[in-house]
Amino acid sequence: MSSTFHRAAAGIGMASERTRLRMVARLREQGIRDETVLTAMAQVPRHLFVEEAFASRAYEDTALPIGFGQTISQPFAVARSCELARGGKSIGLALEIGGGCGYQAAVLARLAREVYTIERIGALAAKARQTLSSIGVSNVKVRYADGREAASNVVQFDAILVAAGGSIVPPNLLGLLSDGGRMVIPLGTPEHQRLTLVTRTGDNFQQQAFDDVVFVPLKSGQE
Ligand code: SAH
Repeated sequence: MSSTFHRAAAGIGMASERTRLRMVARLREQGIRDETVLTAMAQVPRHLFVEEAFASRAYEDTALPIGFGQTISQPFAVARSCELARGGKSIGLALEIGGGCGYQAAVLARLAREVYTIERIGALAAKARQTLSSIGVSNVKVRYADGREAASNVVQFDAILVAAGGSIVPPNLLGLLSDGGRMVIPLGTPEHQRLTLVTRTGDNFQQQAFDDVVFVPLKSGQE
């Protein structure tokens, strides 16, 4: 590799670090208080998860195309979801439904011991796997499946983050939440949802609605 290439690559790196820190400052102004989440977001190179043509806009507070009609979630939505899922404590096992490009999974990887992320579009799952491994994330497993059908009688998760909107919590997912676990899911209509925290105590599930958000819809089947 030429030294010119190295200089150019380093330049891009520094510029993106500065813009990433500006993004974090903005998230703080928008009310994100969990410093562990803010630190994680200051470290994950978000520009590597979007389509190359949009890399220069990666740190704007907006959703951007990642191909296949899907988008990377807005930084604020990622930050708030992670903050609610953590509830101030580090996470053991985390499950994400709707892995998309893998960005939120990369942030979660810094907040949890182990992360499973499920994506229903095969090509996106493959791309997420590749990006995560290229930046050295080793505690995320990407699964190609319909996350609404996810079920297990051996494993439960301390945190479940649903990255696509729906009108109800998919019933299967309630059974996957551990006692004391926290699920974050956008609930509402296709045009408008509220980020909702579902906490489990024994067989009791409590719901609390937080910020207004817009997510792509949770769909069934695989592509
Ligand atoms: N977590 C991503 C957000 C991706 S957008 C990020 O970090 O930016 C939501 C993703 O959910 C899309 O990629 C979409 O294909 C996926 N999705 C929708 N319904 C799903 C389902 N039933 N199971 C798994 N993934 C689903």
